[in-house]
Amino acid sequence: MPDRYAVIGHPIAHSKSPLIHGLFAQATGQDMVYEAIDGGAGPGGFGRALAAFCAAGGRGMNVTLPFKLEALAAADEASQDARLAGAANALRFEGGRVLAQNFDGIGLVRDIEHNLGLPLAGKRVLLLGAGGATRGALLPLARAGAARIVIANRTATKAEALARELAPHMGACSVAGGGPEAAGAGQAFDLVLNATSASLGGEAPAVPAAAFAPGALAYDMVYGKGLTPFLQLAQAAGCARIADGVGMLVEQAAEAFAWWRGVRPDTREVLQRLTVPLV
Ligand code: NAP
Repeated sequence: MPDRYAVIGHPIAHSKSPLIHGLFAQATGQDMVYEAIDGGAGPGGFGRALAAFCAAGGRGMNVTLPFKLEALAAADEASQDARLAGAANALRFEGGRVLAQNFDGIGLVRDIEHNLGLPLAGKRVLLLGAGGATRGALLPLARAGAARIVIANRTATKAEALARELAPHMGACSVAGGGPEAAGAGQAFDLVLNATSASLGGEAPAVPAAAFAPGALAYDMVYGKGLTPFLQLAQAAGCARIADGVGMLVEQAAEAFAWWRGVRPDTREVLQRLTVPLV
């Protein structure tokens, strides 16, 4: 019997995880199946689906919206990344215990450094948005050696609170948070990350042209949307290096796969297959 894995979310039909993990399993010769589970909109759906999957011998799960917080709460043991992100995106079931991880930020860092060729050591980073994606990115960016991170969010108080909360865990990396104006004040950044959901609504968050340092990388975490308003804005500001979040998606999947199976799949082919040109 092949080992069982799944992704759970609501809605879930759009998820690329079954395709990605199916390709990883094929390439690494792992005897496993991977399905999509809709946890439903009602209360308790996630808990019931989790219990049923574990009872049926499931070995691990990816977790997507809106269950990442519930997934962390359901865990017997969680990594520091998951605890500080306040959310889990991968679970492993072992001897009746639920272990939780959050690989979103690790996947982001791996995409930037390994696939896009931008070493993060000493870099100045502007993070637009203060939701779950920003929260999950902060610690891995600091661990990779970013020198300074500024969080600029539509709702300033959320960015300020997040910076205050995570600052003690960021080592040598300084972190500050504020409203959209925090992206200005004549500062320039080597990496400008759009971690807002503005692209999903066809909008761009406020960011001044001067925020993009010469040679900067503009990265929109959303994927499959082509040249988003944020990436257009970056290009208009003279930024030549742009990327969307497809690599983050594939790399966080590879981390989960390695955590479950003990073998890290090569991501190049899967990445090529899922990439939508930025035009
Ligand atoms: P979230 O927790 O809902 O946070 C959304 C953030 O976007 C908030 O800071 C919100 O500001 C801001 N925002 C929303 N609409 C805006 C607008 N029109 N202008 C300016 N700011 C706006 O969402 P999330 O989970 O962090 O996800 C953020 C993005 O990352 C999404 O596009 C998601 O698809 C992407 N993502 C990608 C991956 C990947 O693997 N590539 C993984 C995770 C997330 P307020 O605080 O003011 O409401």
